Amino acid sequence: MELLYQHYGKSITSLAYAETIKSCKSFDNSGFDNWLRKLTLEPRVELFWWRLSRFSIPTNEFLKFRMLGNNDLCASGCLVVENCAHVIVHCKSLIEIIGMLRTWSFNIPFFSSLKECLQQLILLSIAKLDIVKIYCTAIFLAWNRRNDVKHGNPILPILIIASNILITTTNKYPILVNWDAFLLRESETSWHPPPLGWIKINVDASLLDSNSVSIGGVVRDSKGSLLLAFGKQTLHWDINQLELEAVYSLKDFIHDWMFDCKGLIIEGDNYNVIKHLYDSVTKSKVINQISEKISFIQDFNKVIFHHTSRNCNRVADLCATLALNNSFCFYFISSPDIPRSLCCLMKKEYEDCILRLVCNNFFLFSS
Ligand SMILES: [Zn+2]
Repeated sequence: MELLYQHYGKSITSLAYAETIKSCKSFDNSGFDNWLRKLTLEPRVELFWWRLSRFSIPTNEFLKFRMLGNNDLCASGCLVVENCAHVIVHCKSLIEIIGMLRTWSFNIPFFSSLKECLQQLILLSIAKLDIVKIYCTAIFLAWNRRNDVKHGNPILPILIIASNILITTTNKYPILVNWDAFLLRESETSWHPPPLGWIKINVDASLLDSNSVSIGGVVRDSKGSLLLAFGKQTLHWDINQLELEAVYSLKDFIHDWMFDCKGLIIEGDNYNVIKHLYDSVTKSKVINQISEKISFIQDFNKVIFHHTSRNCNRVADLCATLALNNSFCFYFISSPDIPRSLCCLMKKEYEDCILRLVCNNFFLFSS
């Protein structure tokens, strides 16, 4: 009881956590702070971990102890007391997120105790800093999800949170490619939305025997909502050139507000075109000169070129096909002139996406 009154509301578990931190290679607070700073986490993630080390995270155990709440069980529904150790190591929500990252070949460890977790993170930070950063960011985003559950807000699917973790921890790389291996591996059979705050543009081209040629594209957000669908007739006859033109033509359709997104994914099913674009942009960074045709991407925070399967590019393909008759540009799925086939396909992809997220097991595959 003496302990309870000595430390201004810190619970026994919090004090034990303090001792755990200190026991890790003489980690007093300043040692922990120095280690934390060297991780170069995103500021909001670093601040969260700093607060964790000061026990200022309002877990349900903490709130009950301070008589600010009457339920000390995990807000994510784990039926055990929610304390720092639970948040950092044991919560089922966190386990699911790490499980998702592991299916994408990220070897993120599971820990059996808070002490083991901290000790291993310290060791890992020497040789595998990225793994530690991903783990620390996962805790932060899992905590945000827990807050959404607790306050009755809409919650993000585990898949999106796992994607956001990777985006957050890799934001020093403005342009990434070959994310096929992990980020979107689960979506080989159908289109998948971008992470929260990002937009994705799918592009395609259509070429008929009669030399009717057209390009098309669709812009959607993380909810799968339509932001823009376009198609236009054009003159090229080489399919690679056509698909390149589909990307170049984006500058005619992109609006200023799109630049406010966290990042842009440009996706197409022609590997050569996506690779060519990636190589061009990478080279342009070296020579500090970018082709005027693609210079609009510099106005985005981050850009990812992503090659995908034809199955994942159906709407863009349909836009290109529809444009063989007439050029068009739609901003709303409820637009009176939007072709029924396009409307139905986008609705179907949206519903499929939501259904898969709900059924989560679709994404469980062995890595
Ligand atoms: Zn939990």
